[in-house]
Amino acid sequence: MEQTFIMIKPDGVQRGLVGEIIGRFEKKGFSLKGLKLVSVDRPFAEKHYADLSAKPFFSGLVDYIISGPVVAMVWEGKGVVTTGRKIIGATNPAESAPGTIRGDFAIDIGRNVIHGSDSVESSRKEIALWFPEGIVSWQSSVHPWIYE
Ligand code: ADP
Ligand code: MG
Repeated sequence: MEQTFIMIKPDGVQRGLVGEIIGRFEKKGFSLKGLKLVSVDRPFAEKHYADLSAKPFFSGLVDYIISGPVVAMVWEGKGVVTTGRKIIGATNPAESAPGTIRGDFAIDIGRNVIHGSDSVESSRKEIALWFPEGIVSWQSSVHPWIYE
């Protein structure tokens, strides 16, 4: 089953949005497979955002991600990478539809509350980076009520 890496950024944690965000993924029917509150250092954040290292906002982005603890998660389910990105909304909250996490809870692109993997390939890389210890193996008992 497909998995994605979801991270609640420091602003989302500080603003008390953790429960709200987890609730949206849970209520959709996705399964929580990994969860931890962590503070990351600059080299780790730079590795996570390595693809964006040439962007002018890169150092500000890294400052933002290391400014406080983040909630790192793995969610599993059919199409969870693409659907997870839809639940999150567009990168710029000004363009995120109401009903999405960024559309409902963010204003500035540099404080957009949440990260989600953009492809199955990056989800594999990101899960390996954030959960080198691995994740627990369990089968959610709600599956027969979610999938036909
Ligand atoms: P997404 O998080 O939607 O996948 P990107 O991978 O393009 O978006 O960018 C990673 C993060 O970098 C964004 O979520 C946002 O926090 C930040 N970011 C992107 N573009 C800008 C920008 N123009 N100015 C400031 N921060 C930006
Ligand atoms: Mg991205």
